[in-house]
Amino acid sequence: MSTLERKYPYEPEYLQAVREVLESIEDVYNEHPEFEKAKIVERMVEPERILTFRVTWTDDRGEIQTNTGYRVQFNSAIGPYKGGLRFHKAVTPGMLKFLGFEQTFKNALTTLPMGGGKGGSDFDPKGKSDGEIMRFCQAFMLELWRIIGPDTDVPAGDVGVGGREIGYMTGMYKKLAHEYNTGVLTGKGMTWGGSILRPEATGFGALYFTKQVIETAQRDIKGCRIALSGFGNVAWGAAIKATQMGAKVVAVSGPDGVCEIPDGITDEMIKYMLVMRASNRDQVSMMADQFPGKAIFTPGKKAWSVKCDVALPCAFQNELDENDARELIANGTWCCCEVSNMGCRPEAIRAFQEAGVLFAPGKAVNAGGVATSGLEMTQNASHISWTGEEVDGRLHKIMTSIHEACVRYGTREDGTIDYVKGANIAGFMKVATAMLEQGVI
Ligand code: GLU
Repeated sequence: MSTLERKYPYEPEYLQAVREVLESIEDVYNEHPEFEKAKIVERMVEPERILTFRVTWTDDRGEIQTNTGYRVQFNSAIGPYKGGLRFHKAVTPGMLKFLGFEQTFKNALTTLPMGGGKGGSDFDPKGKSDGEIMRFCQAFMLELWRIIGPDTDVPAGDVGVGGREIGYMTGMYKKLAHEYNTGVLTGKGMTWGGSILRPEATGFGALYFTKQVIETAQRDIKGCRIALSGFGNVAWGAAIKATQMGAKVVAVSGPDGVCEIPDGITDEMIKYMLVMRASNRDQVSMMADQFPGKAIFTPGKKAWSVKCDVALPCAFQNELDENDARELIANGTWCCCEVSNMGCRPEAIRAFQEAGVLFAPGKAVNAGGVATSGLEMTQNASHISWTGEEVDGRLHKIMTSIHEACVRYGTREDGTIDYVKGANIAGFMKVATAMLEQGVI
């Protein structure tokens, strides 16, 4: 850790992600001298390759804009690089390194043969027109196409990248590469190679996992009050499944504040989340304007100020800090499952664990998204489309096996489960063993 801190002092999220994993695996690592001898940790924390490139495009006023694009090919020990693209104004190489590192372990947990990768740009989609989004995606692909492919590196969506962006990038990829294989990106439209349920998969998988966490602790998700942060693709899928399971979603939030929904989110409101996202306005207040009296907007507040049983961060890294955790605990929250990648600060996780709040980390909880991307790759490679029941059944099985892996590696002496430790050790063992078997490369 001290070597990394010296080498990468300006990459706090990357250091945070690595520290969490190293702390979890310390005991297991020391029991395996062959890992130490092969310097597995030193190799595993370093991305195999990072591509940085310039993205130049023209906005609607005819002005030329320049952004930076990246692809971090983190680890290919268990399969082709796989992971999303994030378009957000705060994107830095350090942020993508943290996400690529997390992705490597998450993908290992899915049981599917996928390595870890992540990419994106500091492009800010907020307020951009559809034409601007398209021109940016095309300019981005003008560089990225050289290093991706269905058997080498398969990008997908993440914050700021959904079905529309994947469409524009796939169109440009085909034009540049003269490759008409549909499997080079995942999260595609349903008529051109996309998998049924991929848009819902991160949220659905997260709720399948959360339900198992809750039931393992002898409680019931039915009737729970759930606070969600964000209103994007992930929060949308989570809201649908939580409602189907008989829970009540009482809050959604955005960068502008929180919308409290005392009677629980309705199907109409869930549908409206899609309109809010497509508007590129990034304001949750739209919900209160559309549903006056039913959704109550408070500016500047987070979802964690709303009284709930279960907190599900669905937006961005470090969106839930120690103060938020303490507020939730004081309000009676007894479960927090991270749906965003590294959604909680380490001090918040510690506060939850000390208070006996059930806590599970993003790399386990949100793995259903990338797992369903893996299922999309399988369908593309065999030129078939599965039914919704088939995909949902497989997603459910994968989430169950991730939960089992967490229980196997994370059960404490008193019988409770440390999901952070369980997920990190399970992912680490798989990647470390594969690296060991493939020699010093
Ligand atoms: N961005 C998502 C994640 O963090 C999905 C990646 C994918 O489908 O490849 O796992």
